[in-house]
Amino acid sequence: MNIPENLAAILARIALARKAAAAPAPATRLVAIAKTIPEDGIREALGAGQRLFGENRVQEAQKKYPALKTDFPDLELHLVGPLQSNKVREAVALFDVIQTLDREKLADAMAAERDKTGKCPRLLVQVNTGEEPQKAGVLPRQVASLISAAREKNLPVEGLMCIPPAADDAAPHFALLAKLARDNGLQNLSMGMSGDFELAVKFGATHVRVGTAIFGTRAVDDQTI
Ligand SMILES: *Cc1c(COP(=O)(O)O)cnc(C)c1O
Repeated sequence: MNIPENLAAILARIALARKAAAAPAPATRLVAIAKTIPEDGIREALGAGQRLFGENRVQEAQKKYPALKTDFPDLELHLVGPLQSNKVREAVALFDVIQTLDREKLADAMAAERDKTGKCPRLLVQVNTGEEPQKAGVLPRQVASLISAAREKNLPVEGLMCIPPAADDAAPHFALLAKLARDNGLQNLSMGMSGDFELAVKFGATHVRVGTAIFGTRAVDDQTI
């Protein structure tokens, strides 16, 4: 695995997919998903110029990123895994963006933490587009009410995120997420992973989340998917 080469190849594929797309987003950013990857691997990606990273566990991120953020102040960190209400304080302190807002109780906890600390990450709402019972995310029909609840609390909701069912064609899920974003006046769409990020670009992704294709196959399980 050569992390700089992988990164360059993926950036090139994103650029090509944007060229081929009829209506790509104004920009598509690569979120390097570094869950289970040790600090060394992340430093290799940083050395190659990558600054945007995603993690799915608060505790793991708390161990890895304070040192990395000191060395690379422009590092931007996104939470892409489920967030428990009792971890909101830590998450708000560490992450620049939380992509997994999926219930009103969590919005309440974030607003309370923002009122206490004056700090709030930018937010995406995770949508369970496949309505899978075991998966995190708000159901499509509940997206509008969660967004208005978050907006009432002045939370900075900037977009939507989804993880389509592994067995499905992702296209209808990406299309649904894009429609829900349009209907709710949101700009950002986080969708597409190693296997389907080019398809996501075609449907207007502003953020693609790629792990394996950058860092190689993960040894450990990762709960999220
Ligand atoms: C692990 C993960 C990814 C990256 O998946 P790959 O298939 O390794 O690219 C993307 N999004 C989320 C939420 C993840 O947990």
